Amino acid sequence: MIVVTGATGQLGRLVIDGLLAQVPADQVAAVVRNKEKAADLAARGVELRIADYSAPETLAGAFAAGDRVLLISGSEVGRRVPQHQAVIDAAKAAGVAQLAYTGILGGPEADFKLAAEHKVTEQAILDSGLPYTFLRNGWYHENYTANLAPVLAHGAVVSNAGEGRIGSASRADYAAAAVAVLTGEGHENKAYELSGDVAWSLAEYAAEIAAQSGKEISYANVPAEQHLAVLTGAGVPAGFAEILVDVDAGIARGLLAGGSGDLARLIGRPTTPLASAVAVALKS
Ligand code: NAP
Repeated sequence: MIVVTGATGQLGRLVIDGLLAQVPADQVAAVVRNKEKAADLAARGVELRIADYSAPETLAGAFAAGDRVLLISGSEVGRRVPQHQAVIDAAKAAGVAQLAYTGILGGPEADFKLAAEHKVTEQAILDSGLPYTFLRNGWYHENYTANLAPVLAHGAVVSNAGEGRIGSASRADYAAAAVAVLTGEGHENKAYELSGDVAWSLAEYAAEIAAQSGKEISYANVPAEQHLAVLTGAGVPAGFAEILVDVDAGIARGLLAGGSGDLARLIGRPTTPLASAVAVALKS
């Protein structure tokens, strides 16, 4: 079986879609914490295995010997080390054949706060001795394009990322990479540095939105404290706003620029251009 955790999330749903396009539904299982949210997956023939990363006992039946597993990193920042450890322990106890994990671009070299839990998780997977595949995902285009409303309202992209370049790709591109390693051969004990083919600066992003929307959009590169104030003022919880500002400082240092070409190679096509994601977001 191919088993996908976080299958009711945005990335997980795209992975399930990609798997069902390639393998029969009776070879795909979804680990989800909310059965109702996964009703559509069950209706498509996907086996549901109900488990919560935070409740290790629920993970006992999540995996079976020989499964090829994708652990999609959890979304509860700050709680993920024990959560991921519980999943790894369950996968180890079951004797899965492959444990793929969605980490962060740069892996052990990623020098910003958000990367810390991913680094510990990768090490725990290495320590488990299970055959692994590290999918070190760069930024999603959608991290930006899902937040176009305030940019259009204020006519500005605000950040402390300077002229740092961002090698983002669409969430669907990263999902396609996960499908490739779960359905293909030869990906055991490999780490892929996944990023978009073209890295861009936030000034270029502002120019792209301006060109497509016909509005004046500038890029305001501001000090970290000012960006923090903008984010918290917009309702982002302080702790998460600090993490975002810290990521942007990492972007300024070039940490999310990517450039390995691994993503395009894995999916067998160029990655989705940022301009396409902007166009989709402007239409929605
Ligand atoms: P998402 O839509 O928030 O999906 C997160 C998934 O994790 C959901 O299915 C969620 O379950 C599941 N989950 C969270 N806590 C869990 C728990 N305690 N037990 C079981 N399942 C749990 O995020 P996404 O866009 O699919 O992204 C996938 C992951 O990539 C995120 O969780 C985060 O680690 C990371 N991420 C990466 C980027 C990037 O730019 N590379 C951006 C954002 C996030 P429910 O469906 O029940 O909520």
